This record gives sequence, C-alpha cells and structure tokens, in this order.
Amino acid sequence: MGLRTKLLLAFVVPVLLAQSAMAGGEYAAALDLYNKKQYPAAASYFEAASLANPSNVSATYYAGYSFYLAGRKAEAIKSFWRLANAYPTRREGIQARDFLKRLDPDFAKNDGAAAQPAAAVTASAPAKKVTARAVVDALVQVKPGTGKLANCTPEFVAKIKEMLVAMPLPILKFWLAQGGSVLIAPSVVEHDMRIQNTMPRGWGDGYDWKNSPALTHGTQVVIGQYRLDSRTNEYVDTSEEIGVIRHEAGHAIDHCLGDYTESGDFKHAYLLDVAKVPDEYRQRLDYFLQKADSGPSETFAELFCFHMGGETANRVEICELAHKYFPLADKEVQKQLAKF
Ligand SMILES: [Zn+2]
Repeated sequence: MGLRTKLLLAFVVPVLLAQSAMAGGEYAAALDLYNKKQYPAAASYFEAASLANPSNVSATYYAGYSFYLAGRKAEAIKSFWRLANAYPTRREGIQARDFLKRLDPDFAKNDGAAAQPAAAVTASAPAKKVTARAVVDALVQVKPGTGKLANCTPEFVAKIKEMLVAMPLPILKFWLAQGGSVLIAPSVVEHDMRIQNTMPRGWGDGYDWKNSPALTHGTQVVIGQYRLDSRTNEYVDTSEEIGVIRHEAGHAIDHCLGDYTESGDFKHAYLLDVAKVPDEYRQRLDYFLQKADSGPSETFAELFCFHMGGETANRVEICELAHKYFPLADKEVQKQLAKF
C-alpha cells in the first residue's frame, strides 16, 4: 500500500464509521470483509449495496475504493464515475472525482462527457431504480486476447449482455451480491492456463477445455468467443452456442445457493427421474446421467437454462429433452426460482 493510499484511507475513515451505525444486509457484509482486508469480495458487496440503493454514497465510494485496493482498476473507475456524476456536490462525489483525476487515464474525456448529463442524473437520482443492465454491467468483465486469438467482438459481448439482462433482476442481484462475475474472454483457456490440459467432465476422451465454449468456477462464469473444434482442430466462433451462458449461470446460482444440487431434496428428485428416463433417450441424455455429483449438477444447470429461455442453435432440443425427462428435478428447480 503506497503513501497515497494511506492518505486516502485517513480521510475516508470517518465517513465509514458514520455509515456503519445504520449498516444492514450487503453493506454490513461488505464492511466486515473490508475490515478483514478481503477487498475483492468487499468490492462485490459494496457494489451490490450501491446498486440496490444508489443514494448510499458511502457504499458506492467503498465499492470503487475496494475495487482499487483489489487491483481491479477498470471497475474502480466505473464505480467512482457513477458516484461523481450522480452526486457532484456531495463530499463523497467530490472525493471520487479527485481520485479519478489520478486513476482514470481518460479523465479529461470522461469528465467532459459527463458534464452535460450530470445535472439530469442528479435530479432523477432519488427515483432511479436498479436496472438489470446496471447489475449486468457490474457482473461482466471483458478480457483482452493474449495475442494468439483476436479480442472478443463488441457484438459478441453485447449478445451475452442481452441474454444476462433478460434474466430476472432478483437473481442477477443475488448472484452479484454473492461475489459473482462473468468473464468474457477470447477463449476459456486464455482466462486460466492451468486448465489447459485438464478434462471437462462428461465430454469423453479427446476433449479438453479448449473445446469448451464456457465454464464455471464457483460464482464466476467464463465464456469464450472461440473454441477449438475437436474434429478440424481449428478455432470456431461460439456466437451461435451462446445459450450456454444460461446453463453456466445455473451452475453459478447452484453454488450461490450453497451447492443446492448436493442437497438430499434435489438428489432424491433427480434419482427418481433418472430411474424413469426411457432407454431410447439414455444415450442422448447421458450428460445428465453422469455419476456422482456431476449428473445432478448438470441437470440443475440445464433446467435453470430452460427457465431462463433455453439453449440456442443445436442445443435447443437437448435442453427441451432434459426438461421433459427430469420433471421432479424441475419441480425442485422451480421451487428455488420461486424464492426470488
Ligand atoms: Zn455444465
């Protein structure tokens, strides 16, 4: 931590203490994480609290500041600008703007761009509701290519964001509040080289993550615009398979629900369905009939996907089959969805 950071900490602490008296929910969780120096997690909670209640200027300030301490500069800049533009005359807004002068390389440009609408934003701020788009903007990070593959196209990023925005707002907020994120990268292996030579489950011999359009680690979904085609060994565009984002979101939500698919209720319903899958469909549904935790987990993700609008392109039918032949598991999924 540099001197500048220490100075900043010194003058923002009183604000933090003042707010902590009325802290609740996400804000309280965020404060706790912040005090334990768990900045990436604290940032997600502050951001969720800020989006849920944009007039909580302290939450927005600390979202930006925690992102900064977590080394996530682009997100820090985004949160600080939201604050500086909405509350240009409040102390927190002024502090955010001062910080942006040093943090944002495009400060002059962004400051000019915001000067005009700032007044309008301020006037409408109290009535402003959190939108799905704002939550999705907070969830999504776009990762540039490392050179081997081209950067993701803006069209691909927009397509994924549209799919996420169409999901129910309470689910999006819950996901974000649990520290969720969606990383859009040229390929899933470019995101995490450690997985290069490990096998995704249920894909059979000869497949590895390079062939996969997406994956989920805990609450984080990673989706790649390009994947290696296993037959031609060439990279192909995954834009048509984009419905997979809904399946992966299902895995992330399962995790946010405390690995719900490992619960007795879900496993019981799932196993009753498994016993009744007709022989002629067992081959086609083999992905959902995998042993151990994989079967229930994949089934939940696919059923979640179904309720969010389903898969796309050549995956549409398999998604509908999963919905048809796992009716009891689906009832459990719907029970979870109803809680939102
Ligand atoms: Zn899956």
